[in-house]
Amino acid sequence: MQASIVFLGTGQGSFVIGRDILSSGGFVIQVDENQFHIDPGPNSLRNAAHSGINLRSNTALLVSHAHLNHSNDVNAVIDSMTYSGFDKKGVLVSNKTVVSGQDQYKPTLLPHYRDFLERFIVLEAGQRVGINEVEIQALKTKHSEPNAIGFKFFTPYFTLSYSADTKYFPELIEEYKNSNILILNVPHILKDDAKDNLCIEDAIKIVKEVRPKLVIIQHFGVEMVKGDPLFQIREIQKSTGIQTISAKDGMIIDLISYSVDRGQRTLQAYPKEQKIEIRHESIKEPEKEEEPAQEEYIPIEEIKEQQTELSDQNILDSEKTLKEILKQD
Ligand SMILES: [Zn+2]
Repeated sequence: MQASIVFLGTGQGSFVIGRDILSSGGFVIQVDENQFHIDPGPNSLRNAAHSGINLRSNTALLVSHAHLNHSNDVNAVIDSMTYSGFDKKGVLVSNKTVVSGQDQYKPTLLPHYRDFLERFIVLEAGQRVGINEVEIQALKTKHSEPNAIGFKFFTPYFTLSYSADTKYFPELIEEYKNSNILILNVPHILKDDAKDNLCIEDAIKIVKEVRPKLVIIQHFGVEMVKGDPLFQIREIQKSTGIQTISAKDGMIIDLISYSVDRGQRTLQAYPKEQKIEIRHESIKEPEKEEEPAQEEYIPIEEIKEQQTELSDQNILDSEKTLKEILKQD
């Protein structure tokens, strides 16, 4: 029984990513033998290598939308995970724009690399696909990329929702209900700056209603970096009483501590050599979700350690760099 998440990059926007104040490259969820790489923005390959992630082990690559910092490296990651097509493998799960393009967006996925995959699957909000023992549901968003989706992972151990990029709208709360773990992209502090994305106030509203066991905030824009994400994120935990972590580049979190307790003992690890089993349930209505997550607060030592590590070294370094850069302008 093993499940973890590794953040390859937690930055947002050309200022933060373009100047490498924070990196991009998405994040990787590992559930037993399955590895899901989500939103492969620029520098996915380098950051995966730095975090000890072998992209050859990707079971699936998931792309929420065609904005550069979520999809730029989709072809590079496919190339890497398939040895340039020598080993045809892996699944791409993405929104429509990444595969087919829309309006000013050309398809991000190039036909040459598409052919290296075992399969590619386009999801719209509400549709589901099963990959081995993990179910993935596409979530609604409201974003400047018209087909953007979020993802909800139903694993044997926990349910995890990832907002991807979206502005706040009340249905989000329904979408994220019964999640044990909630990852929110919150680039902005203030509502006025958050045109197509979430701000701190939105995050508080969502967390208060969804009440997961753990909230992870990431995708920090320039104002958030200047304002210190740690301080901003503390506001969410203070207002909601829910454990809230500010992600940082390279951070690893053990997700088993946030799992649903029932049923765990009956599960077997998925054999490595077995072919990927895909169950596409695109036209099926989402099934009734699991019982609500247990409410008790289960802090774990590991997370505490990571939080200490964050306060010691995380954002001050970035802020210094930022000030230096600003002086040069
Ligand atoms: Zn976006």
